[in-house]
Amino acid sequence: MKTTELNKSSTFLFVEKSAKLSYVELGLDSQNFKQPKEYLQPESLRLLGELAVANILLSSSLKHKGSVILQIHGKGPISLAVSECNYKGQFRSIVKENLKKYAREKQVLYSFKELVEPNGGGLFVASIKSLEKSVNTYQGIVQINNRGVDFSLEHYLNNSEQIKSWLRIFVENDVVKGILLQALPEESEVDRKSDWKSMIHSLKQIKTREIMGKNLDILLLEKYRKEKLIRTKNFLPVFRCGCKREKIVTSIRQFYKSEFLSESKPNHPLEVICEFCGRTFFIKNKELSQTSHG
Ligand SMILES: [Zn+2]
Repeated sequence: MKTTELNKSSTFLFVEKSAKLSYVELGLDSQNFKQPKEYLQPESLRLLGELAVANILLSSSLKHKGSVILQIHGKGPISLAVSECNYKGQFRSIVKENLKKYAREKQVLYSFKELVEPNGGGLFVASIKSLEKSVNTYQGIVQINNRGVDFSLEHYLNNSEQIKSWLRIFVENDVVKGILLQALPEESEVDRKSDWKSMIHSLKQIKTREIMGKNLDILLLEKYRKEKLIRTKNFLPVFRCGCKREKIVTSIRQFYKSEFLSESKPNHPLEVICEFCGRTFFIKNKELSQTSHG
């Protein structure tokens, strides 16, 4: 079976418990991640998969048309990790390594914190961009937690966003899976508290072996067959890069002075490779100077 056939996501509403449960299944393969994985350290690839799955889970809970962007600016073996996903489940992500900081001599298993900020200073930002003009872009800083991407984001959702959440991500053999439970705003706080605890307890009972070995759709429906479950969302997460020539030209103009560009190699087009999808753009000097003044 090709791993991309795994790509799947659904959200269920627990009618009587005022909570929703989402899951994502994703293959860590070249269809979903365009960076050649033979050039990446296993830990980098794992982080990339975790970030993408967390990203898809978060965007599946968007109430409006928009997208979620997760960005890590690291100070350890990972220098950058970015993932973007829109409300339709179209995502793209990349990871950049600082190979000098990877200790290759011994078999070390890096924790999330060790990968991105062994001595502090890393930055993990969650942003929500809306397509609706009336909704502003929102940005929040996620505390980098030693227990992983999932625990860090869970803590962020509970504390900064004030949304009761439980988030877990599992990686094994090129497959990444994630489960997100979120409470809905509710009138009765008391009922909610005990329900919430028992729901988390029941999710924790599921063994990692079962999560990785079974289809999550079947597993969750079976587990909660006595509950009133309504499927509210069902989609196939898919890689999609929105890179466009005009956007690239605009951003080059922002970072370089036109004098610099024309002096460097006046007759050679600038070769720009999109890091998300690998597409190459040849940008002529003319294009950069032409419209820059009007
Ligand atoms: Zn691209």
